[in-house]
Amino acid sequence: MNPFSYMRGIDRFPAYVYDLAGLSDHAGSVRGALGPDGPELFYAAKANPDPAVLRALAPHMDGVEISSGGELAHVRATLPDARLAFGGPGKTDEELALAHDLGVERVHVESPNELARLVETARPVGILLRVNLPFRTPGAALQMSGPFGMDEEALDACARTIARNPRLTLHGVHAHLASGLDAPAMLDLAERIIEWALPWLEAHGVDAPEINLGGGMAVDYRSPESRFDWKGYAAGLPAVPARLRIEPGRALTAYHGWYVTDVLDVKSTRGETYAVLRGGTHHLRTPVTKGHDQPFTVLTAEGEPCRRATLVGQLCTPKDVFAHDVPVPHLRPGDIIAFAMAGAYAWNISHHDFLMHPKPAFRYLPTREGQNSFPAGASQ
Ligand SMILES: *Cc1c(COP(=O)(O)O)cnc(C)c1O
Repeated sequence: MNPFSYMRGIDRFPAYVYDLAGLSDHAGSVRGALGPDGPELFYAAKANPDPAVLRALAPHMDGVEISSGGELAHVRATLPDARLAFGGPGKTDEELALAHDLGVERVHVESPNELARLVETARPVGILLRVNLPFRTPGAALQMSGPFGMDEEALDACARTIARNPRLTLHGVHAHLASGLDAPAMLDLAERIIEWALPWLEAHGVDAPEINLGGGMAVDYRSPESRFDWKGYAAGLPAVPARLRIEPGRALTAYHGWYVTDVLDVKSTRGETYAVLRGGTHHLRTPVTKGHDQPFTVLTAEGEPCRRATLVGQLCTPKDVFAHDVPVPHLRPGDIIAFAMAGAYAWNISHHDFLMHPKPAFRYLPTREGQNSFPAGASQ
């Protein structure tokens, strides 16, 4: 079924629509591009933890990266056998204990204090130390400077602590330093991380060392058809005496979600035309946080764009903008608009309760066979 015909027929707006078959194909092609000898592929669940999304991705992933006790419990319940890596700053005692109890394979330790608290839990666990390297990454959408990872001195102190605690095993290092990088920039960063990591791992006698290179593979919202060059990235990674792992989120799930809604009002004031849509950025916060115009298709209007308008939601704030002063066809109340690239950092990063509007519906595109091969998750 044509996705847009399906979206036009939805029983209630706004609605999130996920294409699970498309998502699965995409994940399979990423896995294929990385090749059998390429890095391990973990999915960063914080990009979109929808249970049906997790299940569609799972066959193509080596594991899942989670960033809180909540994500840990949720992913473990959804994918009982998944290999898990637990990252993120400020892990609590309860979360650190849960990591062991729910079978987390790797804890990414963020600081010496966190390691001390991990020792206190008295549970055996495998560790990667998260490193904060002073590399500049021009062109990054987000530089992960701040409270993430450790300097060399703290890393050395952690390695000594681990060596004294037989319950703990040091397996390697983790570095997630920037996001929004294309393949050449990502490779450049990977090379610098590896160049630093190999001698460090050797100096600390780490057996079968692992290097987690993080996520952050670019998604270009101005160019919905373009994709991160996974083949080029895999081909450019050096062969090293360590197991490499990556943990992308956005570049896996962004492309297979839509936020579909209808036009409530069209008005012109002080020289600007506004289309007021049902819902708003309390459901799809992505364009506000990223500062872009969310790509969209008007599903009901005929003809080419003939005017400009700003697409806004129902919130009482001038920040509630999906797309600013963009070309649109002639719009009327009742027209249906599908915002694309709403499959990552969309619903789950939005401030749902602001103004207490109804929550969106969640729908999954029927597959070509007319039925959904993935059991739909009870999304929120
Ligand atoms: C958010 C995050 C990721 C995923 O980043 P994307 O930009 O979605 O690929 C991976 N690793 C860590 C540690 C993160 O915080």
